[in-house]
Amino acid sequence: MTADPTLPCDLEEVQQALIEWYEADHRDFPWRETDDPYAILVSEVMSQQTQLGRVVEAWENFLERWPTTAALTAADRADVVGFWSDHRLGYNNRAKYLHEAARQVEAEFDGSFPRTPDELQELMGVGPYTANAVASFAFNAGDAVVDTNVKRVCYRAFDVPDDDEAFEVAAATLMPEGKSRVWNNAIMELGGVACTQQPRCDESGCPWRSWCSAYASGDFTAPDVPTQSTFDGSRRQFRGRVIATLKEYDECDLDALGHRIRVDYTPDGEHGREWLSGLLEDLEDDGLVAFDREDAVATLRQ
Ligand code: SF4
Repeated sequence: MTADPTLPCDLEEVQQALIEWYEADHRDFPWRETDDPYAILVSEVMSQQTQLGRVVEAWENFLERWPTTAALTAADRADVVGFWSDHRLGYNNRAKYLHEAARQVEAEFDGSFPRTPDELQELMGVGPYTANAVASFAFNAGDAVVDTNVKRVCYRAFDVPDDDEAFEVAAATLMPEGKSRVWNNAIMELGGVACTQQPRCDESGCPWRSWCSAYASGDFTAPDVPTQSTFDGSRRQFRGRVIATLKEYDECDLDALGHRIRVDYTPDGEHGREWLSGLLEDLEDDGLVAFDREDAVATLRQ
């Protein structure tokens, strides 16, 4: 059993599946290639207001001009603010805070960044979220991130109730110990490209489909998605039901499976063997199911 009763018992598999999915393919932001806390702080502050795609150029220009906290400290504050407005990065106060934070690192921390979320919050303009992001991505020493994306994922996948404390507990339990760097990147990527408001479960190859409660039920509402367009009868919903049924029964012959996933299943009807075989073939292509056509038997692939 896991510490959080809403989470699956095979937590390690859940964790591994997400990390493998993330490592196989993810959006290539340059700040994901560095563990320099200063560069990461700059990316976090810039992306608070601005779309990530637009941040890339500003981030590269900023670091080219002021590559270290020492260089930024030596800069004229008006130049830093000017840079911020030229790149349309939102509130200019953020530029002032960043300048001040660099000065603090130089003056109060001997030029080397603090490492823990608590210490990082002593820096000007650095709130709990940013402090945790820097601790995770620079030092692999953060806590589990709980943002809107993570809440949406936990709510849909594991039925975590819409309650801040429940999300905190679930997110912390889900994160493998000592892996905040890869984990926080991976779960935010999942919420950012797969479990978006309009979920892209199959298109993105979501690694949690075989555990996901929303995928099985077809109900993709979330705290920030109170209603959804109707999925009734949609292919996605039936894919979810196939996975949920195979999870329960391990192995099913075609007709038994058909009757379990839809009331109007008739072997030779419109939604019969041919339709279900097509669904199983797609699931097989996605690596979720093994389908033996000859014996007409399907099993779940884990
Ligand atoms: S299967 Fe779909 S709803 Fe479930 S976690 Fe993945 S993307 Fe989100």
